[in-house]
Amino acid sequence: METIFSKIIEGSIPSNKVFENERILAFHDIAPAAPVHVLIIPKKFIASMNEVTPEDLPLIAEIHSVAQQLAIQLGIAESGYRLINNSGPDGGQTVPHLHYHLLGGAKLGALTG
Ligand code: IMP
Repeated sequence: METIFSKIIEGSIPSNKVFENERILAFHDIAPAAPVHVLIIPKKFIASMNEVTPEDLPLIAEIHSVAQQLAIQLGIAESGYRLINNSGPDGGQTVPHLHYHLLGGAKLGALTG
């Protein structure tokens, strides 16, 4: 499925990349909700958390490893950060390609629901 993120992966839409390998891409969010706001996405199309299969779990684990490394690289590992996945309409997901928000660089507000 073509989304804004598949266009970023293929390079037809530019992004400010902070990490890339064969399986994963990370780039700055275009509308940052915190001083550090990076999106970490699998290059493989997975629409949302609902579509993650057992075969995808090494990829999900690698995304967490990339988030850990990016937190160090972006200077927020010690002060703290959030890694968030929004899934589905009630979860606030607006782009139907699995992604994780890495947020930090300031004291973040309380989670609301
Ligand atoms: P969601 O609301 O969890 O689906 O998050 C989608 C995120 O993608 C939002 O935080 C948007 O600001 C971000 N976004 C949308 N288009 C772009 C883009 O072209 N570059 C970078 N981030 C984008």
